[in-house]
Amino acid sequence: MSLEYHILGAAGRDNALLVYVHGGDALARVLFDCGDGCLAGLPFAEISRIDELFFSHLHMDHIGGFDAFFRCNYDRTLRPNRIWGPPGSARILQHRFQGFLWNLTDAKSTAWEVAEVHPDRVARTRFRLNEHFAAAHPANDGPRAPLLSTPHYTVEAVALDHLTVSLGYIIRERPRRNIEVSRLAARGLKPGSWLRTVKEAPAETVIDVDGKSLTVGALRALLLVEQPGEAVAYLTDFRLDAATLDALTPQLYGCKALVCECAYRAADAELATRNAHLTAPQAAEIAVAAGVGTLVLIHLSDRCPPDERPEILADAPAICPHTVFPRDWKR
Ligand SMILES: [Zn+2]
Ligand SMILES: [Zn+2]
Repeated sequence: MSLEYHILGAAGRDNALLVYVHGGDALARVLFDCGDGCLAGLPFAEISRIDELFFSHLHMDHIGGFDAFFRCNYDRTLRPNRIWGPPGSARILQHRFQGFLWNLTDAKSTAWEVAEVHPDRVARTRFRLNEHFAAAHPANDGPRAPLLSTPHYTVEAVALDHLTVSLGYIIRERPRRNIEVSRLAARGLKPGSWLRTVKEAPAETVIDVDGKSLTVGALRALLLVEQPGEAVAYLTDFRLDAATLDALTPQLYGCKALVCECAYRAADAELATRNAHLTAPQAAEIAVAAGVGTLVLIHLSDRCPPDERPEILADAPAICPHTVFPRDWKR
């Protein structure tokens, strides 16, 4: 298993985060935000395999590229079509769904779900392609925590103050279970294909190992060690105060990377707070407080000329040494 992340978009333009969760035979693709042009470098087939789309909030610079996503997936039936966002997302997304002529799709059964993340629950609303997305069908509420839980990963959300709710997200691999080779040798057991059964089969399965019949559960207790999975956090468009820092720190525990906005230069800290955005040193403060490995700065203002961008990066390393711009960015 591993967790791989790519920043989409460009410096000074809209950005998004695409995470790949590699889990044995399965590969999950999870997209966070979808600003203008963010999907431009991705093949049609790749966009059509995105499993989940999470919006931080629905300001134009985070949803401007949604049509490219919807163009690939509007009639998709091979995967669930689910979009997550803060309260109010269903109303805005319904407008996006309805922004096209749908006179040739009445035979298609595709459904879309918008999952709004409220403080105490997830409110779900469904829309149907063969109804031209005209009706909003309320569905059963879902739990707020865990927000999303799959066999290979989980996603948690934290509500941030952007003069509206902006949702930060943490995507976390399930704990990894590996065979401890020294334990194998200590018991005189020879490695073989039976080890795969130990990792994957139900605990009550009985298998034969070196002439002895043992349950998978017993072998797991003897041989497996569990390590935490990797995690990546995505935080954008919010103001930082002491209470927010306190709330974020435990949530970000164990993240190998924090992908975080820095819309303003350090010199513009007052303006950043007034407009509910961050500076690079504030992003670095969060990364250091939470012990995050790498801070990846995104969402640079287009008001900052390219030759001044290194100054933004220079603001943060004194606080968080492992601060970078995305390696995926086109310069
Ligand atoms: Zn915003
Ligand atoms: Zn923004």
